[in-house]
Amino acid sequence: MLSIALAILGWWAAVKIDDRSIARETKAVRTGLSELLDRIPHEQDSSAIWTEAVVNVRAGNDEWIAENLAEWLSEYFGHDRVYLIDPDGEPIRAVERGVRVSLLAYERDRAAIDPMIATLRQQMAVASAEDADATDALVGIGMEDVRTLSPSSTGIVSVRPILPSDDTLVQRVGEVFLHVSVVELDQDTAAAIGQKFDVEDLRFAQQSADLDSDRIANPVLDSAGRIVGFFHWLPDEPAYQLIQETAPLLAGTALFLVLAGTLLFLRLQSTTERLETTQAQATFLAYHDSLTRLPNRAMFEHKLSQALGDARRNNTQVVLHCIDLDRFKSVNDTFGHAAGDALLLQVSHRLGSLVGESDLVARLGGDEFAIIQPNVSDMRDALGLAQRVVSALEQSFDLEGHEIEVSASVGLMSSDGHIEMEDLLRQADLALYEAKAGGRNRYMLYAGELGTLLRDRLDLESELRDALRSRQGLELVYQPIYCTRENKILGAEALVRWEHPKRGRLSPDVFIRLAEERGLINQLGHWVMHEACRFAVNSQLPWVAVNVSPIQFRDERFTERVFGTLEATGLDPARLEIEVTEGLLLQNSPEVQQTLRALRGRGIRVALDDFGTGYSSISYLRTYGVDKLKIDQSFTAQLGQDGEIDSIVRSIIDLGRAMKMKLTAEGVETESQRSILIGMGCDQLQGYLLSRPVSAQVMLDLISAQSYKRNIVLGRQAV
Ligand code: C2E
Ligand code: MG
Ligand code: MG
Repeated sequence: MLSIALAILGWWAAVKIDDRSIARETKAVRTGLSELLDRIPHEQDSSAIWTEAVVNVRAGNDEWIAENLAEWLSEYFGHDRVYLIDPDGEPIRAVERGVRVSLLAYERDRAAIDPMIATLRQQMAVASAEDADATDALVGIGMEDVRTLSPSSTGIVSVRPILPSDDTLVQRVGEVFLHVSVVELDQDTAAAIGQKFDVEDLRFAQQSADLDSDRIANPVLDSAGRIVGFFHWLPDEPAYQLIQETAPLLAGTALFLVLAGTLLFLRLQSTTERLETTQAQATFLAYHDSLTRLPNRAMFEHKLSQALGDARRNNTQVVLHCIDLDRFKSVNDTFGHAAGDALLLQVSHRLGSLVGESDLVARLGGDEFAIIQPNVSDMRDALGLAQRVVSALEQSFDLEGHEIEVSASVGLMSSDGHIEMEDLLRQADLALYEAKAGGRNRYMLYAGELGTLLRDRLDLESELRDALRSRQGLELVYQPIYCTRENKILGAEALVRWEHPKRGRLSPDVFIRLAEERGLINQLGHWVMHEACRFAVNSQLPWVAVNVSPIQFRDERFTERVFGTLEATGLDPARLEIEVTEGLLLQNSPEVQQTLRALRGRGIRVALDDFGTGYSSISYLRTYGVDKLKIDQSFTAQLGQDGEIDSIVRSIIDLGRAMKMKLTAEGVETESQRSILIGMGCDQLQGYLLSRPVSAQVMLDLISAQSYKRNIVLGRQAV
C-alpha cells in the first residue's frame, strides 16, 4: 500500500517537473524565432539605411549593389534570398544564397511578399502624409512576418525601405526602393536556434503530418494568427530520464517492498493460523484428557446429557458404563508413574477397540473410565459390551517387558432419558462399587438402591481417620519368629489391628488398602513404627519387624521419620527390621535405592516380604542388597504336596544363602512343613504352628517365659 502511494507521488512529481521543462523549451523556441524576426530587419537596415545605397540603387550600380546591399548581405548574414524592389513593386535584383539569380526567381516568393509590400507602402504613405519628402518619418518602418512561401517552405520575410542616412539626399515616398530578405525556416535555422537555446534536436516542419508523436511540437503563427508551420524537438524530460536511470533501482526497491510486504503478510497470516491452531489445541485440551486423548469429564458430561436428551426424544435407552481398574494403584506404586501412564494408554486403546461408532469412551480421571452407549434397544448388547470390557482388561499388559495383570470392574446403568445425569452417574457408580465389593474383575448392573457397601466404605474411611486422630481402637499385635533349630524366639513381626467400635477386630487386609487409597497410610505407618519401637525398647525382644507400605517407603521424609522414631524411642537401629514387598524394588528407582542404603547404613535390616509372589529376580536382589527373604505363605502351604513348589522353595533358600541373606518361612502351620523347611536349611520360621500373632502383653510374657522356661506352650492365646 505504502509503496503504491509512493510510486503515485513520484510519478506525479516527475510529470510536474517534465511539464516545466517542456514549458521552458517552448519559451526558448519562441524567443529564438522572435529574436530572428528582430535581427533580420536590423541586418537589412545596416545597409539599407544608407545614403549611398539610395544613390547606387537609383543609378543601377550593379557592382556597388552586389558588394554592399544584395549579394553581400545575403552572403554575410546568411539571408537565403534578397530582392531589391523598385517603386513600382517590381524586382530589379534577385540574389539567392549570395549569388545573383534571374528576376524570375522572385515569382516563387511573390505571393508572400507582394501583400507585405502593399501594406508597407501604405504605412509609409500614412507616415509621410504631411510631407512626401520627409525621409525621417520613414526610418524604422518595415514589415516582417513568417509566411508560407510555397507548399514546401516557410520563411521569415522582411521588407525594409532603402533610405538615405542623412539629409544630403531627398527621398520621396513614391520613389522608395525596397529591400526584401527571405530567411527560410529550414532545418539549419531550427538547429541554430536549438543550439543557442539548448533545445535538443530542434527542427521545423511545415505540415502537422510530419510531426512525430514522441516529440514536442509548437506551432508558428504569422501576424494574422495563421499556423504556418511547427517547431518540434526532443523534449528534455529530466524526471522521466531520472526515472529511466533509476528505474532498475526503483523497481528493485519496489520489488523489495512488495516482497517485504508479502513476507510480512505471510508472517502475519501464519501467526494468525498458529494462534488459531493453539486456540484449537487449547479447546481440544479443555475437552480431552492430555494423556490418552480421550474425551475428559467435561466432554463426557456434555455428551451424556446430549445422549439423555436424544433418548428422551427418540424413545431409546442410553447405557452408562463406569469402569475402574482393580489394581492400578499398586501398579503405579510398584512401577512408578511412567508405567502407570503407559498402562492407562494401553487400557484406553483396548477400550477404544471394543466400542461401536456411536459409543463414546472417556477418561474421567485417575483409573476411572466411562462408556456412553446410546440407542440401546436390547439390554443384552449393553451387558455384552460390559463383559467384553472385563475380558479385555483381564488380559495381561506388557509394561516394559513385565507382564502385569490389572483387571477392571464395571458398573452399568441404563436410562430412557427421564433421569438427571447426576443420578444416572451415581447409580452406575454404585453398581461399580458393588462389582468391586463382589470381588472385582466383573461387571454389575445397578439393581436399585443398594448403597450399603458404598456407605460402608465411606464410613470406614472416616472412622479410620477418627481412629488415627484419637488413637482409639488401633493396636499392634506381635507374631514371634522362631529360630528353626532351637525353637527360640528371635524376634517378632508387628501387625496392626483395628478394634472397630461396631464391627469388632478388623484385619489389616481390610483397611491397609483403604488407608493407602485415601492417603492415610503415612500417618498409620508412622504410628505403627513408633508403637513397635516403643514396645521393643521396653522389652527383651531381640528385634521387631515392621511392615512398610511402598507408598510410605517412597515418601521422601520416610528415612528421616524412621531415624526420628528411633531417636525418640531410644531403640537401637540393629533391633529394627523393615519389611517391604519385592514390587518396591522393581521400580529400579535411585530414590528407593538411596533410602535402602540409608536405612541399612544405620544398621536397620530390610526384609523382602511375601517373596516369590511377585517378580522375583536375582538382578534386583544384587542391585539393592537386602538382609532377609520372607518366603510367602502360599509356598509354605503347599510344601510336601507339590514337588515343583518344594523345588522353588529350595532354590529360594539356596539363593538366599548364596547371597548371605537370612530366610524366614511365613505361614508355617504344620509339623511336616516345619520339618521340610528345616531340612532345606531355612533359618527362621513364622506361623500359627509356632505362634499366632499375640497381644503386646502376651508377647512380653512369651519372651520372659522363654528366659525362665525352656518349654513354651505354642499357639496359646491366639489373637
Ligand atoms: P504379612 O506381612 O505377610 O504378614 C503376615 C500375615 O500372615 C499376617 O496377617 C499374619 O497374621 C498371617 N499369618 C501368620 N502366620 C500364619 C499362618 O500360619 N497361617 C496363615 N494363614 N496366616 C498366617 P495379617 O496380620 O492379617 O496381615 C496381613 C498383611 O497386612 C501383612 O502381611 C502385611 O502385609 C499387612 N500388614 C499388617 N500390618 C501392617 C502394618 O502395620 N503396616 C503395613 N503397611 N502393612 C501391614
Ligand atoms: Mg510382613
Ligand atoms: Mg508376608
